[in-house]
Parts: sequence; C-alpha cells; structure tokens
Amino acid sequence: MEKRELVIIGAGPAGLTAAIYGRRSGLDVLVLEKGVPGGQINLTDEIENWTGVIHASGPELAESFRKHAEHFGPEFREAEVQKIEIKDGSKLVVTDNGTIEAEAIIVATGAKFKKLGVPGEEEFTGRGVSYCAVCDGAFFEEQEVAVIGGGNTAVEEALYLTQFASKVYIIHRRDSFRADKVAVERAMTNDKIEVIWNTVVKEIAGDDMVTHLVLHNVKTQEDSKLPVAGVFVFVGMEPNSKFLGDMVDAAPGGWIKTNEKMETSVEGIFAAGDVRDKYLRQVITAAGDGATAAMAAYAYIAEQLHLRQKVFEPEHAFIFLYSSIDEAQMSLVSQLEELTSHVKDLALIDGYKNARMVEKLGVKSMPVLLELSKGNILRSEKIESLEDARKFIGIN
Ligand SMILES: Cc1cc2nc3c(=O)[nH]c(=O)nc-3n(C[C@H](O)[C@H](O)[C@H](O)COP(=O)(O)OP(=O)(O)OC[C@H]3O[C@@H](n4cnc5c(N)ncnc54)[C@H](O)[C@@H]3O)c2cc1C
Repeated sequence: MEKRELVIIGAGPAGLTAAIYGRRSGLDVLVLEKGVPGGQINLTDEIENWTGVIHASGPELAESFRKHAEHFGPEFREAEVQKIEIKDGSKLVVTDNGTIEAEAIIVATGAKFKKLGVPGEEEFTGRGVSYCAVCDGAFFEEQEVAVIGGGNTAVEEALYLTQFASKVYIIHRRDSFRADKVAVERAMTNDKIEVIWNTVVKEIAGDDMVTHLVLHNVKTQEDSKLPVAGVFVFVGMEPNSKFLGDMVDAAPGGWIKTNEKMETSVEGIFAAGDVRDKYLRQVITAAGDGATAAMAAYAYIAEQLHLRQKVFEPEHAFIFLYSSIDEAQMSLVSQLEELTSHVKDLALIDGYKNARMVEKLGVKSMPVLLELSKGNILRSEKIESLEDARKFIGIN
C-alpha cells in the first residue's frame, strides 16, 4: 500500500498553507483535492481582508495560493476522500482513487452552503437557484434577483450582484444584519438594493425557470409573492466532515473539535480551517490553522519516529519514563542524564508529553524504568534515585 508522511485532505487556504509549512519542514506531503484548488474563495469576487492585499478576486488569490504551495513541491492529487480508517494502529485514507497509509493526516475540507430546505429549492437548483454569485451572477443581466440571508456573505454577494441585476432584494428573517458595518453601509446606500426585513421564503416557484418566491412575514404573518428570475441562498454553512462519521469529537452540526495545536481527539489526525469548531471562518484564520496543524503534525511525526526507534523497534532497550510536571522527577532526570553516555540503549522519555505511548505500554505510574524488547516489557521498577537506576541496569 502507498505510504506517505503527511496527507492533507482539501486544497483550500488551510490545506495549501499546511502544504507550504509541511514541505518547508522537510515532510513528504500529499494533498488530496476533489475539486478546484483554492476552495471556497473561488466563489467570491471580492477579498479585501487578506493582509497585504487590498483587493483581489477570490480566483486570483486561490491561484496565487496554489502556485505558492506548488513552489515547495508537495504532490497534488485529484481524489475525493471517502473515509479514514485506523487498522492495527495505522491511519488509512480511503479515496475514490486508492487507499493511502499516512503517518499524520490534516483534515482541511472546509465547509459548504446550507440549503434553505423549502419546496422548489432542489427542483430549481441551476434553473434560477444558486449558491454562488460569482459563478451565476452574469446570467441575470438586467433581471430582478433575491438574496436570502443577513450575514457578511449575503450582503457582500448582494452588492456584487448589482453589477448585473436591475434590482437585488435581500430577504432577511430579522430586522437587522449580522454583517460587517462597512458592507452594510455600502448595501444600504446602493440604489439597486432593497431589503425585505422580518421575512422568510416559504416556496421557490416557477415553470422551466424560477419566476417568483412565496414570502412569509414573521411579524405580520402575511404571505406575499415576489417576482424574481434568480435566488441566491446564503443562509450559513455546514462542515464537510460527514466522511469522518463519528471518528473524531465534533460540536453540534459536525464542526470538528481541536485543541490549539489543531489536534483532534484521534492521535495523528489534525483539523484546520472552516471545518473546525471555531469563532471566525475566514481565509486568514484558515491559513493560520493550516500553518499550526502542519507544524504540530511535523512534531508528531518526528516524535513517533523517535519513539519507534527508541522504544518499539530495538531488540533491547532501557526506558526511563518520567513526568515533566513533577519537580522531584525532573531532578532525577538530570541525575540520570549522565548515565545515557555510558548506557547506549537507555533513553529518558517524558511520559507526560507522550501519554498515548505510556498508555500503549500499559504503564500505570511514573517514574519507572523499563527493560524492553521490541516494545514488550521484560522488567519494570519504580525508580527513586540514581542508585536504584544503576542497580536495575546492572552497572556500578
Ligand atoms: C461566497 C464567499 C465569500 C467569501 N468571502 C470571504 C472574504 O471576503 N474574506 C475571507 O477571509 N473569507 C471569505 N470567505 C470564507 C473563506 O473562503 C473560507 O473561510 C476559507 O476558504 C476556508 O478555507 P478552508 O481551507 O478551511 O476550506 P475551503 O476553502 O472550503 O477548502 C476546502 C477544500 O477541501 C475540498 N474537499 C472537501 N471535502 C473533500 C473530500 N472529501 N476529499 C477531497 N477534498 C475535499 C474542497 O473541494 C475544497 O477545495 C468567503 C466564502 C464564500 C463562500
């Protein structure tokens, strides 16, 4: 089976940044992407909050991210990941284009638009219903369209659509926007935009193409008809994490939980970017997550290699396991350090930082000295002094 050091799933801003950091650390990196590199930013015409670039279109930024990552030589492969499996301690990435064994995995699969879930939405998708203004806006030259939603994306995309449409209605279920002030001000002063507050869509209707919406005012409880040729739905996002099943801990909705090192609840699997349970989902935070995840994955891989070489592979080894948060144990470590120059197969390992390895070895308390053969414990003893260690090893 194909074996790789770091497999990154998704080539959006998080995955591409992880690829840069991974390659620059010297890792062998494989990036799997089912669509177009760059991810969601390909869907927007306006990026004004990526530091150092005052204005760029999404596809321009996506292209520069891809080129930057390519410069450091990761392998890119077109593949959709279907699941991740752990077999006999190995991590397997199962794709529609083969299975790969990975030392570490970064899940950077981002998020996608939520559907409204109203009658007509499925039926008219691609025939007037869209989730991407950049992709479909130009089809509505001099026609009236509606944008559904009240967040940043809804307001910004409504502004973008005014380039083509003769009128853009923003339909929002509340009486104020959640979007940034700047975007809201621009929208409210644009003659082509009209906001319909306190209103939800009950139905999307038409014949071959969308002809109108049935709206419901949540304050007055009245229904009304709004003739439009296009409907752009921006009512929130959901994570692309279904392929993981319940393998890693997730918040309601499937957003993957991580710690600050982007570690998920499964050893060696990291998550970065919009797919994570986090406060702000933007290009800049996705890129930051990608960098952190790659560096943490690098440290994990190096540590695994070290542990394999010191603990699990040698015919014979002495391992002193200690806790680095215990002062007495740390002073014992400094005394034992001199022994490592005489006893070549003695390694001192911080069991607090390598808790999973301690668990794998079945060690219940530290400090402890182990005599091992290929990871199997031959003898073990609680060690309280340099003298105890010398006796255990059999030197004077
Ligand atoms: C219309 C729109 C406008 C936006 N405007 C801005 C803005 O102005 N400023 C800003 O900072 N942010 C903006 N964002 C948000 C920004 O695009 C995201 O925060 C960012 O792209 C997240 O990056 P990511 O790498 O986490 O995920 P994504 O960009 O979602 O990339 C994930 C990648 O993973 C791939 N993938 C998913 N599942 C699989 C699988 N199973 N196998 C293989 N590949 C898979 C996807 O194809 C995708 O390429 C906007 C988003 C949208 C949709």
